[in-house]
Amino acid sequence: MAIRKIVYLPDPILRRKARKVELFDKDFQTLVDDMIETMRDAPGVGLAAPQIGVSQRLIVIEYADDEENPEAPKQLYVVANPEVVAASEQVVEGVEACLSVPGLVGTVDRYYGITVKGLNRKGKPVKIKAQGWLARIFQHEMDHLDGIVYTDRASEVWKPKEGEDYPAD
Ligand code: ZN
Repeated sequence: MAIRKIVYLPDPILRRKARKVELFDKDFQTLVDDMIETMRDAPGVGLAAPQIGVSQRLIVIEYADDEENPEAPKQLYVVANPEVVAASEQVVEGVEACLSVPGLVGTVDRYYGITVKGLNRKGKPVKIKAQGWLARIFQHEMDHLDGIVYTDRASEVWKPKEGEDYPAD
């Protein structure tokens, strides 16, 4: 496993539509392991492959799956070719930060809940129902696969003050 270099705006790879994952071979497994390690090292709550310069539709997320309890154990998600198949009517505002856009945070509207379909690291179908912050992280990561950065969607972007800390992904 290795920590990969995170790329920043204005790197053009962050603006490209990433290609579908077709092969779940040994190289792909290494990519997954490297993304997990890079996310944990950053640290971040999620990472999309384009953020390490790989234009593939692959995301990793590690976040407590219990919205009410921040002490809840974290759950690791690895999803290739993720797609939103259902979304709540409710949209919520929240503050996001991005590992590829250091030094800024911004307010973004996201669906409160979504259902995501995709493939796990073995290429087997998975379906995930996410709510609250977990749903927000999924939406942020999936945007990266289409060349969208949260600042494109933000109603307001600012430089955080000291002590003003938001999880980045
Ligand atoms: Zn990001």
